Amino acid sequence: MSKTYAPPADMAANAHVTEADYDKMYAASIADPTKFWGDHGKRIDWIKPYTRVKDVSYEFGNVSIKWFDDGTLNVAANCIDRHLAARGDQTAIIWEPDSPDDEALHISYRDLHKATSKMANVLKGLGVEKGDRVVIYMPMIPEAAYAMLACARIGAIHSIVFAGFSPDALSARVNGCGAKVVITADEAPRGGRNTPLKTNADKALAHCDDSVQALVVRRTGADVPWSDRDHDYNALAATASDDCPPAEVNAEDPLFILYTSGSTGQPKGVVHTTGGYLVYAAMTHQITFDYHDKDVYWCTADVGWVTGHSYIVYGPLANGATTLMFEGVPTYPDASRFWQICEKHKVAQFYTAPTAIRALMGQGDDFVKKADLSSLKLLGTVGEPINPEAWNWYNDVVGGGRCPIVDTWWQTETGGHLMTPLPGAHATKPGAAQKPFFGIEPVVLDPTDGSVVEGNGVEGVLCIRDSWPGQMRTVWGDHERFEQTYFSDFKGYYFTGDGCRRDADGDYWITGRVDDVINVSGHRMGTAEVESALVAHPKVAEAAVVGYPHDIKGQGIYCYVTLMSGDEPSEELRKELRTWVRTEIGPIASPDLIQWAPGLPKTRSGKIMRRILRKIAEDDYGALGDISTLADPSVVDDLIANRMNKG
Ligand code: ATP
Ligand code: MG
Repeated sequence: MSKTYAPPADMAANAHVTEADYDKMYAASIADPTKFWGDHGKRIDWIKPYTRVKDVSYEFGNVSIKWFDDGTLNVAANCIDRHLAARGDQTAIIWEPDSPDDEALHISYRDLHKATSKMANVLKGLGVEKGDRVVIYMPMIPEAAYAMLACARIGAIHSIVFAGFSPDALSARVNGCGAKVVITADEAPRGGRNTPLKTNADKALAHCDDSVQALVVRRTGADVPWSDRDHDYNALAATASDDCPPAEVNAEDPLFILYTSGSTGQPKGVVHTTGGYLVYAAMTHQITFDYHDKDVYWCTADVGWVTGHSYIVYGPLANGATTLMFEGVPTYPDASRFWQICEKHKVAQFYTAPTAIRALMGQGDDFVKKADLSSLKLLGTVGEPINPEAWNWYNDVVGGGRCPIVDTWWQTETGGHLMTPLPGAHATKPGAAQKPFFGIEPVVLDPTDGSVVEGNGVEGVLCIRDSWPGQMRTVWGDHERFEQTYFSDFKGYYFTGDGCRRDADGDYWITGRVDDVINVSGHRMGTAEVESALVAHPKVAEAAVVGYPHDIKGQGIYCYVTLMSGDEPSEELRKELRTWVRTEIGPIASPDLIQWAPGLPKTRSGKIMRRILRKIAEDDYGALGDISTLADPSVVDDLIANRMNKG
């Protein structure tokens, strides 16, 4: 039995959802989804109220997902205009710049209304109409949020491409959705260095149709090359009207396209629509983070990731929250930056990824302890399974043992959280995503025959039985791929691609990707388990484990290990780690090969791309596949150069 952490008494008493509420609401959401979502759809404002709630078919070959489909609304009006009367002067967005020496901005709902309307009028001036696509390739600056909301205001569809992506990745996405305009900036300051964003955009646009226009926001004011397709945003905004009536948009019109991380294969252009997505993003934001008026809420993700869409911009703003947007990185000027920002802006809810937690844990506790973190009420994590070691550090050192941790499991495809403990309702378990959100019915399937695994204390493939409003509707331009990817392997269910365990209490644990299971001498094991054992060693900062062909065992265990700063690789340490894993898990999990890796190949959102590590381990670098979504592709060359000799 793992240790559990009960909700703090005041949260248990005052949370939006208490323990008793959860059981009642969950049962109701499963028993009658139409009634449940028909009621909760009213949390946002509709221009024309819906009379139909749910119209869904998961039948392979005929998959169709619609929610509230005769209703109309506008997302920007929901995120801005409807708050103006009551909270026009309240801060909507706190912007913290890359350098702590530069001034933070406090953007009120009234300011946000003006800025978004101006940007919307500028886009209209460039000929952008309802249904047109706009690519956003921007630093984490307020204009990125204005751009998203401006598109929503006029009914254009945005597709954000993370500013760290290469020109190739950008041009593929611009062409993939047939964008009319690319919104970018002169430069993107990050960690004290300026990325030449405009120059990258130029390189990308050289491979796009001449009709594609660029709208360039001045961030640093640097001199940048200029051509006929370019428009100066600041000049146009200076004269643009700040009055732009919100367009009436159907609930099922697309709001945005966003490519998945590409951890497992070619990125997919996930399409989210308007009404259901906003209802789901708003509801999960309020309940998972137990957001209350006046709280300052901070999600450290980039807007180029779905977490930034749902939990920096759309969810919080639909709820009239104060949301913090940070331009920089956790380690600049030093590893105390996150905690300094929490202190400076009195952050109540802090939401980040395990990769950041592990990296900061590797820097030692002093960086945390020198900040006053007494404003924190809740911590969140997302992106990959969090190992108990990192969970405990987050809980004890960052949260001071006072703050519940919500381990939110979800995907680009799901629009919002599908599983998480609720902070006022559930005693948390380190490493467990634990409870389904309302309307989510997890099903554990046997991977070999697809049969439903009943009862507790079981493990298998994780599917979801029915739809929820925030679900993706299709892959942009390729509905067949949508059906193939999510509805063909296990008929009648949404297939998540993840494995899970349902423990004796009926709580869920995500065990990793189904692809990441290896078979060593006939024993199936999740690579996450070996990784978790490795990072529990005091000298290990991060580890990635993959299988490779092994003459005797079928598959051997190949470990890439990043050491804590200050620790040096040695043969002794290699032996020590082998013994360590054998004791932690058992002899069957003993690492066959351990490669020291100063860096691991990670996606933009900090996830390890195991498929690349698998290829390197298999000695097959000819077929690395799409690596355009890597944060730092040079890591791959280093890993290949230092590959273990398997001889
Ligand atoms: P691609 O689908 O292109 O391979 P990706 O799956 O990494 O990329 P995302 O949608 O960003 O793209 O990530 C979703 C995945 O991240 C989930 O399927 C799951 O594997 C993992 N994940 C997210 N949150 C958690 C969590 N709290 N616990 C465990 N795993 C998580
Ligand atoms: Mg995925």
